Parts: sequence; structure tokens; C-alpha cells
Amino acid sequence: MCERCSELQLVSCFHSPQEYMQTIEYIKKLIASGDFTLVSGNCPIDEVKNANGQFADDIIYHLIRCNKCGQEFSCCVNTYRGGGSFGKGR
Ligand SMILES: [Zn+2]
Repeated sequence: MCERCSELQLVSCFHSPQEYMQTIEYIKKLIASGDFTLVSGNCPIDEVKNANGQFADDIIYHLIRCNKCGQEFSCCVNTYRGGGSFGKGR
């Protein structure tokens, strides 16, 4: 982990859908900043919710990588049962 990574606001557990949506917005900003790259995900990061406001899937995940040091961070949520996190690793 580099200095850029160590200042990331990680979330050990999502307590609400709103908290997850805030984290997705945060991740989109990280990617837009050019410091992180979206590596993979099971839906487009702009479409975790469809036009009707429903989540794209029961389990949604996205993986990003720091362009400076290569550290990966994953964001995963269970939209059906609740829970999930944004943290270091896959
Ligand atoms: Zn880094």
C-alpha cells in the first residue's frame, strides 16, 4: 500500500443501502481522479441500480486497483440479505 491507498475511506460493513451507494459514488470519484482503475465487476459501476431504482443483482461486486502501487480493493454487497464491505484485497 502507498500513501494514496492508506488514505482511502474503507468500510468494514455496510449498514444500509445508502451507505453502499455513498461508497459507490466515492469509488467512481477515485476512478475519475485517475489514481485508481476499475479492474472488474459484475455490472457497470454506473448501473448498480436500474432506472426503477432496483439493484442490478443480489450480489454486486467491483474491484479497483491503485495505479501507483497495484494494491487491489474490492467492494461487495449483498443487496438481498444486506451486508458487504469495501476493503483491501479481492
Ligand atoms: Zn497505492
